[in-house]
Amino acid sequence: MIYDLCNLQTVRSLLERYDLAPKKGFGQNFLINPSVPERIAELSSSFADHSKPAGVIEIGPGVGALTQYLAGEYDKVVAVEIDRGLIPLLGEVFADFDNITVVEADFMTIDLYAFLREHFGDIIDAGGSVSVCANLPYYITTPVIMKLLEAFPLTEKIPLSSIVVMIQLEVARRLAATPAQSDYGSISAEIALRADAKKLLDVSAGNFLPVPKVASAVVGIVPHGGIREVYPDAPADDADCLVYSAKVSELITLAFGQRRKTLINAVSEKYPKDKVAAVLEECGIRPDIRGEKLSAADFCWIADLLGK
Ligand code: SAM
Repeated sequence: MIYDLCNLQTVRSLLERYDLAPKKGFGQNFLINPSVPERIAELSSSFADHSKPAGVIEIGPGVGALTQYLAGEYDKVVAVEIDRGLIPLLGEVFADFDNITVVEADFMTIDLYAFLREHFGDIIDAGGSVSVCANLPYYITTPVIMKLLEAFPLTEKIPLSSIVVMIQLEVARRLAATPAQSDYGSISAEIALRADAKKLLDVSAGNFLPVPKVASAVVGIVPHGGIREVYPDAPADDADCLVYSAKVSELITLAFGQRRKTLINAVSEKYPKDKVAAVLEECGIRPDIRGEKLSAADFCWIADLLGK
């Protein structure tokens, strides 16, 4: 049986039958306009190069609005849902789909490497690809994205071919911002160290049940080769490179912690002003520069010279 999973009446009656109501604490805003999840699934499948066979991880299937369209685009869908109450409902609506697996778990506590091996080992071994697609619960948007990007810190390439997720519009703008844009901040620089991010689609609040307070947008994130691609002089030794990466992140946090200050003043608690001034001069960067004008590569260069 095929369910109309974006139909308001269907969603309401399914929730009622399983004695459920949207839970605010789990960020449950279900999509009720089918054209939106259909478009997100298409974007997920077309946005990046995916080797075949292709699998996808969905975080938070809810009642399955997006899951059903992902099943049409991918060879295998593994949907991770934290809400125990939704598991039997999902079992019913996807009983006739042989390429959907629903896993009851908190995505934030999953060991991603073991998860990929367990559910996508066949696809990875066959030279295929795994992506992530979700209408993310807004209370953990950034932690989910950083978990995905930080799970494989020093592999040549993160073994996820794309991350296409719907998030708050305001956060989407920040993730995809480039230096000197008003939305550019520490998260923009942190993302740029690991991936290329692009805002793909705006989605208004009226497309959800219940209606959220904020507008949403879909972002596409494609992991690149990581810090060694951004800054080829990063340490070749893995352990040294991890320590160095932490220093770069610390510098970014300090620089944006007091964004009205010049970089020299913002990081002065940690680094002597004359040393930072000398490093900026060596990099050919103006001494009155603020963090908001510096690219991920600039932060890497400055952190490298500060450590010498
Ligand atoms: N995908 C559905 C849709 O588009 O209609 C539901 C999206 S709703 C915004 C977010 C979903 O994520 C909910 O089903 C919620 O229960 C689930 N969720 C929240 N926190 C989670 C977590 N830590 N791990 C897995 N799923 C989670």
